[in-house]
Amino acid sequence: MKALKIAIQKSGRLNEKSVALLKNCGLNFENYKSSLITSVNNFPLEILFLRDDDIPEYVQDGIADLGIVGENVIQEKEVDVEYLQKLGFGKCTLKIAIPKGKNYESLQELNGKSIATSNPIILQKFLTENKIDASIRTISGSVEISPGLGLSDAICDIVSTGGTLKSNGLEPFADVLSSQAVLIGKKDIKHDSIVEELLQRIQSVLRASETKYVVLNVERKNLPSILTLLPGVKSPTIIPLAEEGWVAVHTVISEQDFWEKINALKASGAQGIVVMPIEKIIV
Ligand code: ATP
Ligand code: ZN
Repeated sequence: MKALKIAIQKSGRLNEKSVALLKNCGLNFENYKSSLITSVNNFPLEILFLRDDDIPEYVQDGIADLGIVGENVIQEKEVDVEYLQKLGFGKCTLKIAIPKGKNYESLQELNGKSIATSNPIILQKFLTENKIDASIRTISGSVEISPGLGLSDAICDIVSTGGTLKSNGLEPFADVLSSQAVLIGKKDIKHDSIVEELLQRIQSVLRASETKYVVLNVERKNLPSILTLLPGVKSPTIIPLAEEGWVAVHTVISEQDFWEKINALKASGAQGIVVMPIEKIIV
């Protein structure tokens, strides 16, 4: 069987999580050291390690069949590829930021201003959609120092915590694009059986990562109220305890749901609550 190629970032913010995701899918391979390409030894796949900026075009042109890259990079490159799966990591927002204290009241105040960015395509699209006529200054890095140097009135850059903006005397003004890492494929690749299998594995890992296995003990008389709080994959498993009148409830629940329900579970008599990670969920 001919191996497919997947391109991932060779180093940087998406590298570690991309590698971890593929390994959690049961793929066995050597990590990037100096080689550009490595083979998975238990699945028909080769991994290409690239700069993230090159990944969209490699996938569009079919040099790689699949790729893992930020949505921001895909949009900036304006490529024609298929989005196969959002991956839930590498989350960030492309924002317009202005010098602290400017207090612009509406987007319209950007009219006639200059905005520095390394994402001119995304920014232009945003400005056009909002009918704003501003000039874009394209620079390749350290965008956030540009207003301080008098190079621009505002910036448009990726923000995750806002710390870099703050230390450069800037504050967020408008959100332009929210992004996360996604799995992309070249046109029509999603019907390939290897891609289907990989996608299934990825989805089972993603489902598992947001879900927990919960075990708790409860007196049988309190069971009905506990059960109304726990939907479970199908329905919870109930196991009698050695102590007369008590049962253990085993169930699978989303982590978010669990934190929302923990107090209600306790109030309904749940004791000895144990929460465990799940490796994979096949549905
Ligand atoms: P490369 O050397 O591969 O070109 P890079 O320096 O362009 O790397 P990174 O900084 O590693 O890129 O970021 C890769 C991606 O991670 C971004 O395109 C974006 O989708 C995502 N990301 C998540 N949080 C942040 C952040 N705080 N700053 C920048 N990118 C972020
Ligand atoms: Zn890059």
